[in-house]
Amino acid sequence: MTRRAEPRKNDQGKWLKNGAAAKSGLNRAILDKGWHQFESFLKYKAERAGKAIFKVSAYQTSQECAACSHTHPDNRISQSSFHCGICGHTANADLNAA
Ligand SMILES: [Zn+2]
Repeated sequence: MTRRAEPRKNDQGKWLKNGAAAKSGLNRAILDKGWHQFESFLKYKAERAGKAIFKVSAYQTSQECAACSHTHPDNRISQSSFHCGICGHTANADLNAA
């Protein structure tokens, strides 16, 4: 989520603009939000409500089918579309990952 922007070169070896300044600002905003405090509050509220919380790694959640657990990069058709190559499950990519 906060990875640096990849440097890019053209055919002559000159460096191209890669949006590093914008990405740096986005990274700063994401990391400035106090995620640990949010997690603490969420745990506290869930315990009071008698609910369970599961911390899930984001690794490959955008490629894994929510219906059959098949994981493959081709499942992700576009930024917003998900289609499972095995069971045919189709959904919005963000909803499927959640
Ligand atoms: Zn599937």
